[in-house]
Amino acid sequence: MERSLFPGYTIGEDSYEDIGNICRRFGSKAVIIGGKKALAAAEQKIKNAMEGSGISSIGTFWYGGEASLENMDMLRPEAEKADMIFSVGGGKAIDTCKVLAHELDKPFFTFPTIASTCAACTSLGIVYHPDGSLREYSFSKVPPNHIFIDTEIIANAPSRYLWAGMGDTMAKYYECTTSSRNDMPLHSDSMGIALSSMCAAPIVRFGEKALRDCERHEVTTELTEVILAIIVSTGFVSNFVQVDYTTGMAHAMYNGFTILPSTEANHHLHGEVVSYGILVMLTVDKQYEERDKIYAFNRSIGLPTCLKDIDAALEDLPAVTDKALKGIDVRVWPYTVDQQMLIDGVMELEEYDRERKS
Ligand SMILES: [Zn+2]
Repeated sequence: MERSLFPGYTIGEDSYEDIGNICRRFGSKAVIIGGKKALAAAEQKIKNAMEGSGISSIGTFWYGGEASLENMDMLRPEAEKADMIFSVGGGKAIDTCKVLAHELDKPFFTFPTIASTCAACTSLGIVYHPDGSLREYSFSKVPPNHIFIDTEIIANAPSRYLWAGMGDTMAKYYECTTSSRNDMPLHSDSMGIALSSMCAAPIVRFGEKALRDCERHEVTTELTEVILAIIVSTGFVSNFVQVDYTTGMAHAMYNGFTILPSTEANHHLHGEVVSYGILVMLTVDKQYEERDKIYAFNRSIGLPTCLKDIDAALEDLPAVTDKALKGIDVRVWPYTVDQQMLIDGVMELEEYDRERKS
């Protein structure tokens, strides 16, 4: 037996007004759990929307700062008292509530306050140790019951999250279509692969305008389209496809760069480094037309196009590419990937970048 569940979503500046309509059938008591900044931005608006909706809050709690089992233990007694969990924030706050909800078999609703990942839409939870290092993936087939996307709150969040989120979102299309190239995907994988086209094209089309709008804290059609690509399209792809199709060479390169103190120290974001990885991937794979398109896009909004942009250097490449191949990212790929292939791709891209900038 194979069951597929999909989250619904409500998007708009007044999306929280839909809380009563959507949540009432699951009970009347909600616990609100989130990040500190996220709660500061959204808690009052959620509470205002809950008034007269038939749903009341049994309390608001900080998720603890890390998506750890320790924080889930801390929150469990509160979550047990509620009929449903409202999780408010970015990836880690949402994943904390997600894993807890799975464990307690409670309905859970997500309220993303930034658009940087698809965590608000996915069934997969990522669990960390208290020190921030990766602990495990918490696999599940149960996504959030519904996503409430308040575009006004996201437009008022730092635009840097949206900027990096666009890089991670575009990767979903290129990695998914390339990983699966030599396979014969069946229905669920095929659905995800087909939907992944919604992860790159809208970003390239609307991304530059969306970023400017976010910087001006203005909700526009373009910003809304990009938010939907980052949170909803990518989340659906992730829920549909097997894990090997959700990652690939761009993420392998990202993992490689995580060993560099210079990349870490300059606070380059995940999606930012992934967007550089896409360029390497498209160069290695000789998808030059796409590479040139994404290169131009990255340049237009200041995403990286060369090693220097992520504080890396040629001499780092042996160590970076060694680390890149240690993960599972290119375990399923149309050809065997070796270090030299990645190094050659980076060198070729450096050359292209130099030409374009001279
Ligand atoms: Zn990613």
